Amino acid sequence: MRKLENQVAVITGSGSGIGQATALAFAREGASVVVADTNLQAAQETVSLIHTQEQQGTEPLEGARAAAFHANVTAATDASALIAFTIQTFGRIDILVNNAGIGVTGTVLTTSEEDWDRIFAVNVKGIFQCSRAAIPQMIEQGAGVIINVSSIVALVAVVDRAAYGASKGAVLALTKAMAADHVKDNIRVNCVCPGTIDTPWVGQMVQSYADPEDARRKMVARQPVGRLGTAEEVAAAILYLVSPEAAFATGSALVIDGGFTAF
Ligand code: NAD
Repeated sequence: MRKLENQVAVITGSGSGIGQATALAFAREGASVVVADTNLQAAQETVSLIHTQEQQGTEPLEGARAAAFHANVTAATDASALIAFTIQTFGRIDILVNNAGIGVTGTVLTTSEEDWDRIFAVNVKGIFQCSRAAIPQMIEQGAGVIINVSSIVALVAVVDRAAYGASKGAVLALTKAMAADHVKDNIRVNCVCPGTIDTPWVGQMVQSYADPEDARRKMVARQPVGRLGTAEEVAAAILYLVSPEAAFATGSALVIDGGFTAF
């Protein structure tokens, strides 16, 4: 029996990176998945990957069910439409993964007010919008699971990440608040705190340096395990947290960082 048989999951920002890997992992475990992203084409690519499982070395998925949806998580109307679409398409919502996120570098002196607001709108308000759209349906169903994607920058300072770090710290606090508020509704809320994960985002960040190869080498050298993490490794952690094996986990933060914050 697959872990998420008959479950319906919404994953925001799943047109790329960690969200895409999570969508594929959930589908492999039998879930129906709504792939939500501001980039509809990217979302459709994830759906087509789910349907054909074209990725190297994996088996085709028989009868996988997935649908793409264009949504900007910062907008209440988009969040409501996303949940309405999910219920209309698959009849219910059991899992919400608030993964959509953006990054910006800078200290409080070098971060513009516009960037500060943009980061908080996507990384924090986006979770607020999608969760408040999904939770009433979960309450009606009598159960639900929510995962928020935070970061190690919520736990330790990383230079030049003032707005991003503050937003991910807020995600950690919001996770605990939501877990406390909805434990009585049988809704578990947890977050993951990934370290440096080799996604298109990190690829773009590296390309912004004068010497991208050197920047990547330095990034890898800072990792105690000697390599960056993979999107699949974070997806596996998220899969654990949404699965029945994690029934006792709520309000927790699972760190997946190759030892970065430990030593
Ligand atoms: P990514 O850029 O590869 O993917 C992010 C996806 O989110 C993109 O498809 C993008 O179009 C979508 N998105 C952006 N803004 C959106 C919005 N307003 N509404 C809906 N979709 C939106 O990034 P990733 O590396 O896979 O990161 C995913 C999450 O993981 C983010 O929350 C990020 O902060 C977090 N994270 C990443 C790392 C890392 O090293 N890659 C580390 C820690 C945490």
